[in-house]
Amino acid sequence: MTIDAEDPEELAQRKMRFLFALRSRGVTDTRVLTAMEKVDRGLFVRGIFAERAYEDMPLPIACGQTISQPSVVGLMTQALNVGPRDTVLEVGTGSGYQAAILAQLARRVYTVDRWRRLVREAQDIFHQLGLVNVTAITGDGSFGLPDQAPFDRIIVTAAAEDPPGPLMQQLKPGGIMVVPVGQSDAVQHLIKVTRGEKGFEYEELRQVRFVPLVEGLGTE
Ligand code: SAH
Repeated sequence: MTIDAEDPEELAQRKMRFLFALRSRGVTDTRVLTAMEKVDRGLFVRGIFAERAYEDMPLPIACGQTISQPSVVGLMTQALNVGPRDTVLEVGTGSGYQAAILAQLARRVYTVDRWRRLVREAQDIFHQLGLVNVTAITGDGSFGLPDQAPFDRIIVTAAAEDPPGPLMQQLKPGGIMVVPVGQSDAVQHLIKVTRGEKGFEYEELRQVRFVPLVEGLGTE
């Protein structure tokens, strides 16, 4: 559907449909919904797919990657239970959309991607939005960010075969990590890992489909 981006009535309706789709798929946390209402997904999708930015579907972005489906972003953010004093690490910046939402909820967000180009483009949008509490870094996020660790919350937006050990170690006691686990071309499960006093607890949340976590840096 093509929308007249100048018509306030249509824009309001589009926003309502977007939020309704999130709610009907289980995103009920009002802080998460408010954050998602503030961050315009249209800024993060370019080219021919831009007009589908408000539909609840993943879409292609540069470097052969994808921006996640809004309801999955919402459910992962909700499961992460971010507080206003938290420092959050995201592995898999992609378009920067998830990081921009986390930035509304957390004190500080670090986001890492293996593609320089994606990091640069995300940084431009963070700047444009005046988001001063997000830092995007190029690197292999499987190793986390030892210099900034430990983290209250860690979110991985690419599928790992197991929750990466270095990330588990960079989680504070009481911290939560949400990570899709499974082979890239098979069913993956979203896992919530909580670092408790007696060790790690694992909770399986739902089936998902993410691009794989890949070693080393990209070529762009
Ligand atoms: N959160 C993103 C979607 C991420 S798609 C958004 O909101 O748009 C998954 C991303 O993970 C891709 O950009 C991919 O390059 C990145 N990725 C895969 N393996 C990685 C690794 N080892 N370290 C850092 N980023 C990685």
